[in-house]
Amino acid sequence: MNEQNIFIVRCGEVALKGMNKPYFERMLAERIRGRLKKIENGEPIEVKRCEGLIFVRAEKSYEPEVIVREVSKVFGVASISPAVEAETDLDRIGEAAVEYMQRLIREKGVKTFKVEAKRADKNFPVKSPEIARIIGAKVLIGCKVLKVDVHHPDVLLFVDVRKDISYIYDAKVSGFGGLPLGTNGKGMVLLSGGIDSPVAAWMMAKRGMLIEAVHFHSYPYTSERAQEKVEELARILAGYCGRFKMHIVNLLPIQEQIVQHCPEEETTILVRRFMMRIAEKLAEKNGAGMLITGENLGQVASQTAEALVVTDASVSIPVMRPLIALDKTDIMEKAKEIGTFDTSIMPYEDCCTVFLPKHPVTKPKLAKILESEEKLAVADLTDAAVCAAETIQIFSE
Ligand code: ATP
Ligand code: MG
Repeated sequence: MNEQNIFIVRCGEVALKGMNKPYFERMLAERIRGRLKKIENGEPIEVKRCEGLIFVRAEKSYEPEVIVREVSKVFGVASISPAVEAETDLDRIGEAAVEYMQRLIREKGVKTFKVEAKRADKNFPVKSPEIARIIGAKVLIGCKVLKVDVHHPDVLLFVDVRKDISYIYDAKVSGFGGLPLGTNGKGMVLLSGGIDSPVAAWMMAKRGMLIEAVHFHSYPYTSERAQEKVEELARILAGYCGRFKMHIVNLLPIQEQIVQHCPEEETTILVRRFMMRIAEKLAEKNGAGMLITGENLGQVASQTAEALVVTDASVSIPVMRPLIALDKTDIMEKAKEIGTFDTSIMPYEDCCTVFLPKHPVTKPKLAKILESEEKLAVADLTDAAVCAAETIQIFSE
């Protein structure tokens, strides 16, 4: 049996990137290395690229499940398989396959199998179907309880024949796919405590974008617990996106001005425009090229087509809305899958619910909104909020 636990990591879409392929692969290997650093126990874990795959080798002191769990969370990973290796020689591969299947019989009571072989090394003199047949025959001799079932085998045993070393595995654990973090700039996400914005941030990060966040509160109208909830959501996100900065901004001074000077039904849209302006300034200061929100067409009054246009007009930086056309049920499914849902539904107030108008305008007109904003010191209020922002570092749990 192998001295180490070996894992084959497949790179998914990264493999399609043509000229940039080596760059994406290098970034992915680096992200996997960084992720595994977190669980290192003093004994080394090796991460190496080879022929379009990434190989992870860890001492036996590591639980294979832990390595699989950590690596499958890295964006850019299509799938990962715990594997064993053998010298590229049919007898050696056969011995390893027998040992592999004996373990599966012991641990899982496997009764049927089928071998699938792939010959990455085209110089190897035996063709793939023949390799599968030979290894299958050796397994049948070495494991008397097993039968071949070509249609519904308990175990599909893969044999990947490469130049010097070949690999044997059965399970493929899916990753999320996407692209390695840091291959697609940086975005500033407006992170509320709701269901949507954590999913929006996750989706952009999955496309390789580094994330930074801004959260708005209306303390003391919103509680400290509400902020803790957002920090908790941010920590869950950091489990995928790595450590990131979150800026915390008190919107109350701005909300009070709006309530005093502007029509009540415009409160929501006016507050949203301030949020965007503040986020834009923070993005500029911190090297983020775009904003990200969890907005979704038609979900609430502030997310009608007309309201989104008026919101957008408050900034010149591009605004990404990855959830714009998704159904709420699909967003909720995603939130459950990535682990943010249970925290998101905890019932704490958001700054948007403070001073909520009874009948918000659903089809705001930009000219009218600009007129209302003339009664406010927009630039000064924005700058003051940016100046007073508190910045914290978010680490994964
Ligand atoms: P979410 O579930 O993300 O809170 P929502 O459906 O409740 O979204 P709104 O409250 O209208 O919708 O917010 C729309 C978007 O505005 C959010 O997805 C988020 O990006 C941003 N946003 C709202 N409230 C805040 C906040 N307190 N801090 C930072 N961003 C916010
Ligand atoms: Mg919300």
